[in-house]
Amino acid sequence: MSEFDVELREASGVVRREGDMQGAPADVDVRMVVHRLRDDGDLVDRADGGREVGELERGTDRGRVAGPPGQLAQLPSGLLDVETEAHTTRIARQVFARSGSSGARYVDAIGARVESRVECAPGIWHAAAMTVPTHVTTDGRRVVVAAAVERHGRLLSARRTRPESLAGRWELPGGKVEPGEDPAAALVRELREELAVDVRVVGWVPGPLEGDWPLDDACVLRVLRARVERGEPDPDPGVAHDEVRWLAPREVGAVDWLEADLAPATAAARRLDTWVDFPSGAVSGSGVVVAVRPLADGRVGVVVDRTPFHPLDHGWPDQEGDTGLLEGRPVLDSLTGALDDDGRLLVDADVDVRRGDPGRTWVVVHVVAATDAPSVGDPVALSVDGVRRASFSRGHSACHLAALALNEATARFWTKEPPRRDSRGFPFLDQIAVAVSRIRPDAAYDAYRCGKSLRKAGFDAESFLAAREPVADDANELLASWVARGAVSRVDTGGDPTLTARRTWFCDLPGGPAAIPCGGTHVADIAGLGAVRVAYVPSDEGFEVLTSVG
Ligand SMILES: [Zn+2]
Repeated sequence: MSEFDVELREASGVVRREGDMQGAPADVDVRMVVHRLRDDGDLVDRADGGREVGELERGTDRGRVAGPPGQLAQLPSGLLDVETEAHTTRIARQVFARSGSSGARYVDAIGARVESRVECAPGIWHAAAMTVPTHVTTDGRRVVVAAAVERHGRLLSARRTRPESLAGRWELPGGKVEPGEDPAAALVRELREELAVDVRVVGWVPGPLEGDWPLDDACVLRVLRARVERGEPDPDPGVAHDEVRWLAPREVGAVDWLEADLAPATAAARRLDTWVDFPSGAVSGSGVVVAVRPLADGRVGVVVDRTPFHPLDHGWPDQEGDTGLLEGRPVLDSLTGALDDDGRLLVDADVDVRRGDPGRTWVVVHVVAATDAPSVGDPVALSVDGVRRASFSRGHSACHLAALALNEATARFWTKEPPRRDSRGFPFLDQIAVAVSRIRPDAAYDAYRCGKSLRKAGFDAESFLAAREPVADDANELLASWVARGAVSRVDTGGDPTLTARRTWFCDLPGGPAAIPCGGTHVADIAGLGAVRVAYVPSDEGFEVLTSVG
């Protein structure tokens, strides 16, 4: 049991107390000494009766500490009742904590602050965070930071030139944290010096020593995840390296790592976003299992380094996830998941950050029965239900063609320059007004909203809806001519093989090539659709487009 007194002082001033904490406490008991402030912000003397003491609930401070070690992380905030002779008041607290491996978390810095003026008090309550040195560990070992720089599903490695005993071997670049220096800032500095590149720290790769990785008797390695902000890693400054390589997940074992870097590099490779093959139309492949996690519904989520499975996108759930087989066992669904630095896997609607947030690892989650779960490290054969996939691909390509036909057929209902035009030059009604899009087997459903803003933008929805049948005839004529002529339909990944790549669907249509941002799957040639037809149906919100194939 460790006890902290947190002194709460100046309204604006943060109380910072430097100090080392020996060992990792099993529990933390926080006593708050609250000084009352007058309305003018001056401290009321203790003897003046301004002293109040409250106690934070025990145990609540042992929450999850996210983020790189060495940076203060915020624990879930709570409420604290502070009693005085005059009143009971409730202050919101924020507790900050530093570090902790996945097993033995500990709290070594605690503070609190009042989020707003206390209603009933003739003053303001404030508190602050204490900090501890960041360049050494609790047992006094020096912290060396190393970067797991990720880009497009690859991990950066650098070949050392010195000292002679290490020359020619590969490492995660980095260096020592200076006294008083934030580890993340140290990493940014080191990469600028050694590789002439600006990086941004986005997370960490926790190791077995309270989050760190063993290096030697005097030092530990702290591995932080980072992204390149500016520049191209270049060993040319000649400070420490003579070559860099971006390693694909399965290439990580192929370079001659410094001994201490092999384990963290292997762990870092498991944090790379899933490589996906569905954009090319692939329905089979092989993967290596990098994570297996129980899901809330009792089933199990399996993450592999590379997969042909298309997952449901949690942000724009237009196309359902693929089903199929993983090493001969049924894959019941495929979902988008986000792995955090603590190893938690959030899936589908539980994903709490925007798609592609670099702090998370974005993965395809293959949902299997608990009894069918493979083990981490297993190589697995993956095969998608190709018949089902093909019907969704036809529905999806048809959906895009229907959108382009809608744009073209309704162009005459715009009374002024539209806010956006599609790649073929027509007003982009589809993108401006779409509210819901659902791809179905050999079909699609799209709902459009015709509100005030659309009218303001210059679209005469009333006239369109009055003429919807002849307009649909125009659209169907366009669709028939496109399908009859045929054209290559493909998804471009911009060279990024991962799930989070910005993908674009291209189709070379008469009157201008189509290009639409899209995360789904498509047919290879639109001639294969046979026929595509649309119907426009008025709705309360605006109208719906029903698209069918064949
Ligand atoms: Zn799409």
